Parts: sequence; C-alpha cells; structure tokens
Amino acid sequence: MVQHKTPIVVAKGDGIGPEIMKATLTILQEAGSHLEIHEIEIGEKIYSRSTSTGIDPKTWDLLRAYKVFLKAPITTPQGGGFKSLNVTIRTTMGLYANIRPCISYFPVIDTKHPDMDLVVIRENEEDLYTGIEYMATFDVAESIKLISRPGSEKIIRYAFEYAKKHGRKKVTVFSKDNILKLSDGLFHKVFDQVAAEYPDIINEHWIVDIGAAKLADTPELFEVIVMPNLYGDILSDVAAQISGSVGLGGSANIGEHGAMFEAIHGSAPRKAGQNVANPSGLLLASLMMLEYIGQSDVAEKIHNAWLTTLEQGIHTYDIYQEKKSKAKVGTYEFAKAVVKNLGKKPSILQPVRYEPGGKAFIPPKISPSPTCVKVLVGCDIYIFAKPPLTHFLAKIERITGGNLHLTMITNRGVRVWPEGQPETFCVDEWRCRFTAKEVNRAVGQDHILQIQKMIASMGIDVVKMIALFTFDGSPGFS
Ligand code: NAD
Repeated sequence: MVQHKTPIVVAKGDGIGPEIMKATLTILQEAGSHLEIHEIEIGEKIYSRSTSTGIDPKTWDLLRAYKVFLKAPITTPQGGGFKSLNVTIRTTMGLYANIRPCISYFPVIDTKHPDMDLVVIRENEEDLYTGIEYMATFDVAESIKLISRPGSEKIIRYAFEYAKKHGRKKVTVFSKDNILKLSDGLFHKVFDQVAAEYPDIINEHWIVDIGAAKLADTPELFEVIVMPNLYGDILSDVAAQISGSVGLGGSANIGEHGAMFEAIHGSAPRKAGQNVANPSGLLLASLMMLEYIGQSDVAEKIHNAWLTTLEQGIHTYDIYQEKKSKAKVGTYEFAKAVVKNLGKKPSILQPVRYEPGGKAFIPPKISPSPTCVKVLVGCDIYIFAKPPLTHFLAKIERITGGNLHLTMITNRGVRVWPEGQPETFCVDEWRCRFTAKEVNRAVGQDHILQIQKMIASMGIDVVKMIALFTFDGSPGFS
C-alpha cells in the first residue's frame, strides 16, 4: 500500500540553518518518512529586501494551508525596526505552547546531571514578548509585560495534559509573584486553579530565582516545568546546556491551527558554513513533528539510530570529549552515521518507544472570564518633566476634576510625594495618581479627561494615562 505523504513547510534558515536542515532532511528521507516538502524562504534574505518582518506576505498562505512547519534557526538583524521572525510566526499562527524536552545522555555525553529528564513548557505568545515597547521620555524606555487569564490557562492546562499523556507525575510552575503580584500573580493563581483539576499529578510552585538555582543544581528533581515566556526562554536554554549541549535541544511550538518544530538554539552565525554544527536539536524537533503527524514508527527508528550514534562516540565538536568520544565529525558525517545506524537500538542508553499513531494535539479548554464588579476609581497620568519635583508640583497639585485629586506621585515606582525622601534618585518620567479622597470611590471617565486636558494646558507633556479599576472591591493596580 502506498502511504499518503504529509505536506510540510520547510525553511532552511540562516547561519548554520541550511547545514543542519540538510542533515536532518537526509536522515528523515533515508528513514522512510512520508513527507511532501514545500520550501519557503524566510529570514535574512527577506529582511535585506527591507521587509521588517523577515517574511513575505504570500508565505503565510503556505503556512496556513499546510499547518506543519519545520524551521531552521533564523538570524534576527540587529538594530531597531526589525521584528523577531520567530516571535512573529509563533504569535501570528497562535502557537501558544513551546515544548522543550531537556534530557541528559549520561554516560555517553558528559554532564554534571546524569539523571536529568525534564520538559520545559514555555508560554509562547505573551509576557514581554508581545514586543510592546515605548521610549516614554528622554530617560525612560518601557516594555509591557502582558499576562492574560486565557493565555495562562491554555499553557498551564497544556502542561498538565502533557504530564498526564507522558506519564509524568509532577508539574512545577516558576513565577515572580512576590514582586509582580498582578501579572505573575495571575499566572500563579490560574496554575493553582487548574492544578486542582488534576489530583493525581503533584503540583508545586517556586519563585523563579530560587527555582532557576535549583534547576541548575538539581534538575533531576523536576519533571514538567511550566513558565511564562521570558523565564521559559532563558531557563530552557540553561536546561539544554546543562544536559550536555544547547545543540541537543529540539522543540515543538503547538497551537490550535498548526505547529512549528525547531531547534532551541539560534543560527550560531560564527559556526556557519564550516560543517561543524550539531544537527541533533533540529533532528529531535523533526521527530516531534513526525510524532505529531502520526509517523511515530519512523520517529522511533531515527531516535534509536541517533542514540546509537551517540553511544558509538561519533560526536560533533560541541559534545566531543577527548577521552570518551571516538570521532569528532562534521554535520554531514554525523547525519551519515545516523543513517547507517537506522534499524539499530542503543545498548547503554535506554531505547525509546513511541506510541503508535502519534500523540494527538490537546485542544485547550478555556474557562469563561469570571464575572465581578469593575469600578473606575481613578487614573495614573504619566508626565514628562525634568527633575526635581518642585519644578512642577505646585502646578499639578492644584488640578482637580469632579471628585478626583492628586493623591500620589511616584518616580520609577518610588513614592516621592507626599512624604518623599530626599535621597530618592529621580528621572524625567513621573506617575501622578488622581483618585477620590475616599479610598476606592467611583469616579467618572469625563473627569479623567478633564484632568488630562488641564495638565496639557499647563504646558506639561502627558506621556500616557492608565485608568485604575477595582475588581469586586480589590484594587487592580499596584
Ligand atoms: P545561538 O544559539 O545561535 O548560538 C550560541 C552558541 O551556541 C554558538 O556560538 C555555538 O557555540 C553554540 N551552538 C548553538 N547551536 C549549536 C549547534 N547546533 N551545534 C553546536 N554548537 C551550537 O545563539 P546566539 O549567538 O545568541 O544567536 C544567534 C542568532 O540566532 C541571533 O540572531 C538570534 O536572534 C537568533 N536566534 C534564533 C532562534 C530561532 O530561530 N528560533 C533562537 C535563538 C536565537
């Protein structure tokens, strides 16, 4: 019977990308995968045609049509005006879950962590990666850290479903909600709510700083770690590196409308064109792709051949060890060795077994937004003014609108009025809070507009305005 070929989109990428992609595709082909490959051009060449996104608009049609994308790393040009294509693809295609297994291959590959076998599940669309940034004043640049309830629920639910499906017993969350009480606080709160639905899976929380220290020191204590985008980005590289090499990490980006598979490392431009890069990260990502499209038998065959190659001591420079390795090989020689080992199973490392038919996508269940009473109680108006405070305080203090009055001024988050301290260092952006004199008393939108107009009429630049709300009586602001 002729097996139906699955169409996939392939991008060879930049830097070491074309070399590791060629190696990966050779192995996939030789192993008997059934793929119909549609190649696209993205990255440096497209950026150089002054497309700020690094992707031609018509390329989206192919990605939309075929939904499965194997991507080599892309170089993001330095300087302003260019967007990271990786982030653009993940967010545009709604690929909210980034799955990054980090496993050590001891004793074949040296690592201080022989028993490490964990999966980082990184939120892929939100946090500081929305890329919403401003130069607010001459002295101040700002980025928005955006965490949404549905975005958090999707990724956290994905992590628990992943644990269930893969026989993992524990899901850990890292957050920084001792400081970021609202944004990371929401992520943590949603984690606790979702975790309660999975009584058979242990759940735990670590503040990200000590969590990261534990991860670097005793990674064998973790099984599945779910994290907001930035922590996940950084700590999955750390986890991959301490497992043996960042060149060994593959990842899947999964969403409701498609999936993208890539190495976790970047395009390593300094190693490009030398046939030295380790293709393993992209190869392991391609095995996650084969599993996703239901070609688990081929994935299993390649995975065991790859483990056998590692065992034989055939190593690229990044995992080569003088005493243990048998041959330091280039990218293509490594691929050829894997091809030669197709059909073999490792004897020192544990052979892998893939479930027949692959692992179906887990659709997210999103709970409806909670209903509560939301009341407008004031506004923070950010203004531009050179320090010191006395330059403008007398003008601002006089402003009122309805029951709104100036109740606080902060600089870089530190209160400087009333009762500021002379030692506080100030920059040229000030947060001026206007609320009613009575705590959390309702105010009107028109009064907020009135205050902004009065500030502008005094010749003071308004940088931005943030409305302040209470939710069921609790302040939704810091
Ligand atoms: P990088 O991961 O590309 O490389 C850092 C170093 O890690 C390399 O110099 C090399 O020593 C080692 N390394 C990485 N991959 C390797 C491999 N397969 N085999 C052997 N050694 C390997 O990180 P970088 O230098 O910070 O980033 C380079 C470019 O890649 C930047 O433009 C960045 O924006 C981009 N990037 C792209 C992606 C992606 O496409 N998903 C991810 C991260 C970075």
